[in-house]
Amino acid sequence: MDYIQKVIEIAKNNDSSQPEFIQAVEEVLLSLKPALDRHPEYEENKILERLIEPERQIIFRVPWLDDNGQIQVNRGFRVQFNSAIGPYKGGLRFHPSVNLGIIKFLGFEQILKNSLTGLSIGGGKGGSNFDPKGKSEKEIMKFCQSFITELYRHLGQSVDVPAGDIGVGAREIGYLFGQYKRIKNEFEAGVLTGKGLKYGGSLARKEATGFGLIYFVREMLKANNDSFENKTVIISGSGNVAIYACMKAQEYGANVVAMSDSKGYIFDPDGIKIDTVQQIKEVERKRISEYVKYHPEAEYVDNQRKLWDLKCDIALPCAAQNDIHLENAEKLVENGCFVIGEGANMPCTNEAMSYFLEKNILLAPAKAANAGGVATSALEMAQNSMRLSWTFEEVNKKLDEIMVNIFKEVSEAAEEYGVPGNYVAGANIAGFIKVAEAMMSLGI
Ligand code: GLU
Repeated sequence: MDYIQKVIEIAKNNDSSQPEFIQAVEEVLLSLKPALDRHPEYEENKILERLIEPERQIIFRVPWLDDNGQIQVNRGFRVQFNSAIGPYKGGLRFHPSVNLGIIKFLGFEQILKNSLTGLSIGGGKGGSNFDPKGKSEKEIMKFCQSFITELYRHLGQSVDVPAGDIGVGAREIGYLFGQYKRIKNEFEAGVLTGKGLKYGGSLARKEATGFGLIYFVREMLKANNDSFENKTVIISGSGNVAIYACMKAQEYGANVVAMSDSKGYIFDPDGIKIDTVQQIKEVERKRISEYVKYHPEAEYVDNQRKLWDLKCDIALPCAAQNDIHLENAEKLVENGCFVIGEGANMPCTNEAMSYFLEKNILLAPAKAANAGGVATSALEMAQNSMRLSWTFEEVNKKLDEIMVNIFKEVSEAAEEYGVPGNYVAGANIAGFIKVAEAMMSLGI
């Protein structure tokens, strides 16, 4: 058995109840063969065995009182995966599906994603099985306060710096930061990112993941003599990533015809009116189906999975993991889709990814394409350290440069390691080598 298979077996034996984590490990490790062949010292130093084992995993109780005075108990997680190149960095996800395996897959992805940004941030992730849907403002605040009352002792601006992810936006970060500040009696701005603009947040952080995705795909199209101009685009999701990806793609001349939420999708052949989506999602916090009340000419389909049956040139999965299965991939390609840009983390199954690569589809992998969010979090930390704020234009320009650079690194790594045009392998190899080299420099 070769080295890679041996380490995949270790993960399977140790973590058999964590399918998403095993999936992420297999996806990454199987593509690293050219790098491991060239660098036998990685095997000698057991880099892969060390890479798949988190440095520390924290699981904790989150008790809180609901509006009826009843005690509720949730489970909190923080996986501090790898700090070879910087403090642990990665979001918090609040969603009923959250368990240790989900947090570990996200944390594992984050190691290589953060490495690709070229900035000094290690990999971590956290969250809870708390469901923010249907909770009052007060309940959200109480939950956030209880969550951070336990987690704060493991955090610090040079230790571990959480941010948002699904279910955690500026509102939740505000409550988390407020309680952290009370407990520590210290305004440690750099301990959390995605903060509100009034108390240390960065301009363009909110837009960064979606904009960054489009910058990356723009570069990928450019390298293949193409552009967004007049392309038909479909987007899954209608959260932060999806909204700003839609906005930027439209700015570049694309026609975005569909967006979705976990229940269904809207189809507006004349182009999605993104300010309506923002109103529904960011202000009213309602379902995407509301869209047709504002725009009766659009259609709502009560089945999110059917989104992938639509005809398009470019598909941007920006919802959650394992959104595009093999049969969706086949349908997309059959209908003429030739570009996939992963805005969510691991939105394509490994089978769907292999199929896209086999069919020479331009596939922008999540850990490169959605790295703009965490990269801008690192820019927020930099501004916090300097105690000053850059303008929107300055941050956006830096973000654009970072995404251009990530695309360059990814395509050059693919070229150098004998898999030209395979941006999936290129991203894994480029992200991995930096972490592996740092791990070796630091000793065991
Ligand atoms: N949750 C985002 C991600 O998946 C952002 C993390 C951060 O800004 O730390 O990369």
